[in-house]
Amino acid sequence: MTLNQYVRDVQDFPKPGILFKDITPLLANPAAVRECMALLKNRLAERNIDKVVGAESRGFFFATLLAYELNAGFVPVRKPKKLPYTTLKATYQLEYGTDTLEIHIDAIKPGERVVIHDDVLATGGTAKALCELVEKLGGEIVQCNFLMELSFLKGREKLLPYEVYAPLVY
Ligand code: 5GP
Repeated sequence: MTLNQYVRDVQDFPKPGILFKDITPLLANPAAVRECMALLKNRLAERNIDKVVGAESRGFFFATLLAYELNAGFVPVRKPKKLPYTTLKATYQLEYGTDTLEIHIDAIKPGERVVIHDDVLATGGTAKALCELVEKLGGEIVQCNFLMELSFLKGREKLLPYEVYAPLVY
């Protein structure tokens, strides 16, 4: 199966000039979801993962599936003011302005082995903020994984020295 065929290009979303990679066709296809899961899981199966951290909101889909498959806990990282309990915050740079993400302060215990997941790696700013939150709580990042890497934006370089994996690369 070529997973590429389940990713739809949408021109000018969310704003003019952006070619958006839409993963909803992939999510709607159980064989494609299983193939992605197998690829993500195979590289982590024997690595004693305690927590999978997913980025709101498209990161939640595969992060929860992966956590279940690895017998690990799922941890949501969310936009400001969405999480009910006390949070730790990370603010990061966007093309114009900044964005903030939050994690519950007790979501990761010191020494826990953590996988970071989001649907797409673009510039790497989001994933880097996730890593910062996890490390501030004392977690150890084992891998950052994504369904898709937009390699021309060089997010992988921003995430050095973390291990990065994505089954789909553009
Ligand atoms: P970064 O912080 O790496 O620049 O951007 C990654 C974040 O933006 C991810 O949370 C991802 O969901 C979103 N994103 C950026 N470009 C795309 C895209 O083309 N398709 C999808 N589905 N998400 C994108």
